[in-house]
Amino acid sequence: MSRELAPEEFDPMGGLETLSDESYTGANRCWPCTVLNLGLVGLLALFLRARKRSLLSLLVAVVGVAVVYLRGYLVPYTPEFAPRLVAISPVPNEWFHGESAHDAATQEVMAHEERDSLAEDVDLDGETILRELSAAGVIELEGEQLFLTTAVDTAWHEQMDELANSSLDALAAALQASLPGVDDAEPYVDDAEWIALGTDHKQLLPRPVVVAELAAYEVLGERLDDERLRVAGAEAFRMFLHRCPVCDSDLVESSSVSCCGGHLGPRQDPDETLVCPTCEQRLYTFNMGDN
Ligand SMILES: [Zn+2]
Repeated sequence: MSRELAPEEFDPMGGLETLSDESYTGANRCWPCTVLNLGLVGLLALFLRARKRSLLSLLVAVVGVAVVYLRGYLVPYTPEFAPRLVAISPVPNEWFHGESAHDAATQEVMAHEERDSLAEDVDLDGETILRELSAAGVIELEGEQLFLTTAVDTAWHEQMDELANSSLDALAAALQASLPGVDDAEPYVDDAEWIALGTDHKQLLPRPVVVAELAAYEVLGERLDDERLRVAGAEAFRMFLHRCPVCDSDLVESSSVSCCGGHLGPRQDPDETLVCPTCEQRLYTFNMGDN
């Protein structure tokens, strides 16, 4: 007995879309991985041709290139060994990294230090923060999931829209004026937009993070008295973001380690992150490790 394929089931492009892996393609594409894998596909195709298996050779070439295009790599675990191969190969590293604006930005940021949050110095555990936010009617639990209460969510988004419209200079000034803990804030621009903090202006906070946290801090002011809780609570708000507060792009889930740009040791699990693909900045990090 045969079963006819309904038109909606036959959707080759849809199938390809699901195959695509954003962690290793687009802006996240790792060129060492891509080049190495394309090289391997080419070698295998040539080998099959030499063995007079030209049809199979063609198939390997077509499928191999398609998979590398969609997934970023073909050979499993390439992101783990390709960077090391590149490092020991005689090919200059700049061939892979020189032209990428994003890598240049990363290096620039490394001269500085990318800061995660305004609340970095606040030492409060997550449980206390959530308990206090819940007691203040800021968040509520529905089933297993946490939500911002509607009034808070609306106020936060209105506040974010307002801050997103102000210039980077105005944002830095507003931050300095609002937070007693921030003595000095200055705009900083490379390939992305930041607010530089600290006496030496070495700590960079992404603009969307500042917009989200400062807006949340303002909203929490009406509901919390404790300054430390206000700052730490504002950080927690970012996990409720679905869109970038600055450019309104949908946030994508990613890993804190791109395969060539990672700075974690081999035993550490990369954290899952929410990233704005347009601003190329990290909006939230879900700690998978010790937290
Ligand atoms: Zn953005």
